[in-house]
Amino acid sequence: MDWSELSATVKWNIQPFIGGRYRPSDSTEVFQNVNPATELSLCDIPNGCAQDIDQAVRVARQRFDDGCWSNVSPFRRMEVLLKLAELITKNKIQLALLDTLEMGKPITASLFDAETFAPGLIRSWAGYADKLMGLAAPINSSTVVLNTYQPRGVIGAITAWNFPVVNAVVKLAPALAAGNAVVLKPSELAPSSALKLAELALEAGLPEGVLNVVPGLGSTVGQALALHPGVDMVSFTGSTGTGRKIMELSGRSNGKPVLLECGGKSPHVVFADIGDIEGVAAATVEGALWNQGQVCSAHTRWLVEEEIADSLVESIVRRASQRQPDDPLKEATIDGPLASPAQRARVKAYVEEGTKSGARAVLRGMIQERGGCYVSPTVFDRVQPHMRIVREEIFGPVLCVQRFSTEEEAVALANGTDYGLEATVWTRDMGRSKRLAHAIKAGGVSIRTSGKQDGEVFVLSQEPQKASGFGVEIGLKGLESYSTLKSISFIGA
Ligand code: NAD
Repeated sequence: MDWSELSATVKWNIQPFIGGRYRPSDSTEVFQNVNPATELSLCDIPNGCAQDIDQAVRVARQRFDDGCWSNVSPFRRMEVLLKLAELITKNKIQLALLDTLEMGKPITASLFDAETFAPGLIRSWAGYADKLMGLAAPINSSTVVLNTYQPRGVIGAITAWNFPVVNAVVKLAPALAAGNAVVLKPSELAPSSALKLAELALEAGLPEGVLNVVPGLGSTVGQALALHPGVDMVSFTGSTGTGRKIMELSGRSNGKPVLLECGGKSPHVVFADIGDIEGVAAATVEGALWNQGQVCSAHTRWLVEEEIADSLVESIVRRASQRQPDDPLKEATIDGPLASPAQRARVKAYVEEGTKSGARAVLRGMIQERGGCYVSPTVFDRVQPHMRIVREEIFGPVLCVQRFSTEEEAVALANGTDYGLEATVWTRDMGRSKRLAHAIKAGGVSIRTSGKQDGEVFVLSQEPQKASGFGVEIGLKGLESYSTLKSISFIGA
């Protein structure tokens, strides 16, 4: 397929989707939607404003209260969500193009997100729609107390740009499966696939106004959504800094509950007993460079037992140096540009900071300054725990290696940042794997016995720890997060 030719046919239409149709934003100010592969503008995007959010919240509230979705049978919700999953796959070419043009993801990766990743997640949540059950407590012959889940109401959802279509689905699918109405504010860097999802949801049978999408800036629509007194809960995916602002905005308004999926600096702890150095290095490089390192759980912090560190680093460098970014519209491209000039500047600043602080750059990546945000991988070895490159989230193709000699030291290093999203332990020692899985403070810990991985990894519910956030979205627990638990007592003879 000639994706460059196809990309020229995209018709850009970025305005609020409220009550089942596009409406012009009340804001007259705009910013540019920049293609990071060329740094040329694709179109203008309205800044958005509090009035846009107010309209969307009012419509969502009205549709929630009239019961058109909140009061239908869970089987109907399941049916609509399954249809939506089917329509996403059917529209994969358009969705993939939008994500690739707006944030630079290689087209084959965007196709995977639209064809497999996002629809799979929706199907999983759809399957839980009729399984959200409470409890019954028969106290005695005259009293029965029930615990029932009810949808919370209007959910304000705010998302990041790194997996545009997937991030949107991760919010709207569990919220809708539980019976809520949603106002979604996608990232300003990549809002178009979320708007397309709203159109598809309507086609799938979701009543008008149950899902509304308002594009714009964080400082305008994002802030207005988190502050709005008509919003019953905010679910946020993004950086820890913004997550903390969201908590503040909730506190300043109606004290709405908040769910935060924030940043990470996930440790990969490799013990010498793993043996398979080449397999580990291959998995390291794949995991670290997936989505150009722009993944919350990116494999970019490596803690390696001294005994194997030289050979593992040599293999990582050899493999990473072969990975050069290229045009994301070519089907053969594995690594595209970073998502924006701001993201490139951020990565560049961290690479300079690492060098200044004394870390050894065993591979120094190229940073293209104009005409495309292309950055190739950098690997730092012998990184010390106090260095910012290993404590802070870089969100780019920069790997840090720290060396350790004992298990205790490995645990201390693994827990040595503010984050607690995910961790991986590479060992074949069963006792050690159990000790580390217990000791490492992270929402999810994977134990790996080799670099081989067959098929997809099934993710069970997990809750981020420390500065990575709180609240659960995946699985049935996700539906519980988007519900409120009520007790109803039946009393009397
Ligand atoms: P960001 O915090 O800059 O923005 C996230 C969203 O918040 C955007 O939609 C933005 O417009 C909005 N926003 C910004 N300021 C706001 C404000 N004052 N009030 C309300 N909304 C505001 O993050 P980003 O750069 O878009 O995404 C990268 C971050 O997302 C990384 O830290 C990454 O780890 C994290 N992330 C986490 C997960 C996860 O599941 N834990 C998944 C994806 C991304």
